[in-house]
This record gives sequence, structure tokens and C-alpha cells, in this order.
Amino acid sequence: MTETTLQCPVSKKCGGCQLSNMTYKEQLSFKQAKVIRLLGKLHRVGEIVPSPRPMHYRNKVQAAFGRTRGGEIISGVYQSSTHHIVKTDACSIEDELADAIIVFIRQLVKSFGLTVYDERIGRGFLRHVLIKRAFATGEVMVVLVTGTQVFPSKNAFCARLREQFPQITTILLNVNDRYTSLVLGERETVLYGPGYITDVLCGLRFRISSKSFYQINRDCAELMFTQALESVGLTGREIVIDAYSGVGTIGLIAAGKAKRVISVELNRDAVKDARVNAKLNGITNVDFYCADASDFLAEMAAENETADLVIMDPPRAGSTVRFMKSVVKLAPEKVLYISCNPETLARDLTFFTKNGYKIRMIRPYDMFPFTEHVESVILISRAGS
Ligand code: SAH
Repeated sequence: MTETTLQCPVSKKCGGCQLSNMTYKEQLSFKQAKVIRLLGKLHRVGEIVPSPRPMHYRNKVQAAFGRTRGGEIISGVYQSSTHHIVKTDACSIEDELADAIIVFIRQLVKSFGLTVYDERIGRGFLRHVLIKRAFATGEVMVVLVTGTQVFPSKNAFCARLREQFPQITTILLNVNDRYTSLVLGERETVLYGPGYITDVLCGLRFRISSKSFYQINRDCAELMFTQALESVGLTGREIVIDAYSGVGTIGLIAAGKAKRVISVELNRDAVKDARVNAKLNGITNVDFYCADASDFLAEMAAENETADLVIMDPPRAGSTVRFMKSVVKLAPEKVLYISCNPETLARDLTFFTKNGYKIRMIRPYDMFPFTEHVESVILISRAGS
């Protein structure tokens, strides 16, 4: 399949796969060239690591529900930058089981005589379906996002769904009755199972709830984290700062090979999840702080603290000069920069190279096949060492 381009009937309307007209090989060359163009002046760029599975890699899938003008119930993706639903039954980058569950739910809605949500009048039952699948453990979460808490025949509905898909390990009802483009609302009840799924990544267990962040392409993330930490070569004696740490993934994976990890993340829910993840794995040498990474590092630097390694995985906008100035003051031997945007990365790396650090490795990863996005891992260390 990867020898060909995507034959997706809705690719123009959906807009999710910007590189759908390229074969997989062409996509890799395209992304390699992009990273070379942006970072090649700074250091040699290693060969892009392909995604272990180039298709159906997305472990989180969501579909909007609505009706056509003729009254037919449909589900699918929003046409880019609109709230018009494009009917889709299958997608080349989404998990196939998730897509099959969504199509089946559409049939169930009809056979149970349920309604779908109408955004214009703010009424109706099913609004979205969100599915998360833990590829390593096989666990599957189904979240029914509805306009109302009232769910007639919910037990029969869930029983029928589980009978058809025994892989489903938990079902949730999430009520979202607001006029919003966010998928999930505040109120959530568990209809079946524990209310979360658990996946295994780099030998550790991670709990995934409906709202918590988790790497979309699990297999590629596992490969990337393993190789990135190998390139650092931890000995067990290091103090590590894991900044922009999300649900704690990289820091927790590094914890087994470090003395102590200090994890800092702005999102309160993510920090909560990270603490649960540490407990789940019996890890006690990671401290989690909920703070702005730049404020936190500036404070550490002001208190003359030190660190051996700073891991940073900022959002698309990249880091801040204040953060990087503090890193320079903390003077870690190494910095591991994981980036999802080579443009802001180029800017940040230039700062490090002008302030006593040298780039040792640049390696792109194809974390999001068929899209224009490219992830990169960069190892930096103190110049002269
Ligand atoms: N390393 C994580 C994911 C990082 S995504 C993982 O692998 O799971 C980037 C993270 O940066 C998000 O969790 C986001 O909430 C956080 N973030 C954004 N701005 C921040 C800031 N100013 N300070 C700290 N964290 C921030």
C-alpha cells in the first residue's frame, strides 16, 4: 500500500493528509529535504526514521455525528475550517478497528431510535464519538459525546456494542451541551469498565483517560524515545530536568537510568496523570511540578541549581529565550531537544550554538505519515567537552 499514493475520496475536503498525493518514499524524501533546508546549516542531518506503521497509525480517532439535508444520519470529519461534516467510513491513517466501531455505532443509533446533535439549535443526543486504542495491550476506550445526559436504553446499547466488539474494555458518556468546537465537555460518567485504558510504552505502563494526552503514533514514539535516550547514554548518576513533560512519558522512561528527574509541565491534568503513571510503575525518583517551564527554570537558575541533562519537548511554538538562558546558566552537560516543528527548532538551536553549546546529532522521525508534520530529536552538548 505504501508504494502508492492515497486513494482517499475525501482528502481535499478533510485536509488532514497534506501529502496524500505522494508515495511513502516520496514523503520521507520530502521531510528529509525540509529538515535539511531548515537545520542543515547547523549540523549534518541524519536519515529520517520511517514510521513502523505508515498507515492506520493513529490510536486516537474522533468522528462528528449529524444529519444530511435529506435526514440521513452521518458520521465523519469536519470539512477543514468549517463545521460541515464530510461523511467517512474509513481513513488510511486512523486505526481500522476504531473506524469499524464508529460505523457500527452509526447503525446502532438508527436501530435504537436515538437522535444526533444539531449544532444550530443545540439539541439532540449523539454529537461525537472518540475512540482510543492502546496498541500494546489491545485495550479500547469508547467515549460517546452527547448533547444530553438522558440516554434511554443505555445498558442495551452498551451490551450490543460490546457483543459486536469484545475488544472494547471501557465505555464513557461525556456530556457536551455547549456551543463550542471542543469535542469533550466537562461532565463524564463511566458506562462500562474502569473509565480508562492502559498502554505499555518502553516497558512502562501509562494510564490514558478521555482527556489525557498520549502519543498518537505509539510505535514510532517508542522507537524515538528509546533511540533518543540511548544517544544520551545515562549512567544512573544524573540529575535530569524533563521540561514540557506532558503526562511524564520521557522523564519516567529516563528515571530508571538516572538519579533523579525533575518534571515540569503547565497543564494541571497532565501533571495529575503523570503522578498516577509514576505510581503505576513504582517510580519514586521523579518530582512533578505544575508550572510554566520558563518561570520554573529561571527560578532554578537563580537558586544556582545544576542539572546534568535537560530534556525539552515544547509545543509547536518552540521554547523561549528565557528558558534557554536559564538552561545555559544551569549548565547541563547535555540537552535533548524533541521538536515537532523544525522552524522554531532552527531558531532555538541557533541560540544554543551561540551560547556555548554544540549540536551533536539531528535525527528526524516520521511520526505523522501522510501529513506535512515532522518530528526531530536533537542532541546538544557543551562545546569543548
Ligand atoms: N513530552 C510529552 C509531550 C509534550 S507536548 C510526551 O511525550 O508525552 C508539549 C507539552 O508542553 C504539553 O503537554 C503542553 O501542555 C506543555 N506546555 C505548553 N506550554 C508550556 C509551558 N509554558 N510550560 C510548561 N509546559 C508547557
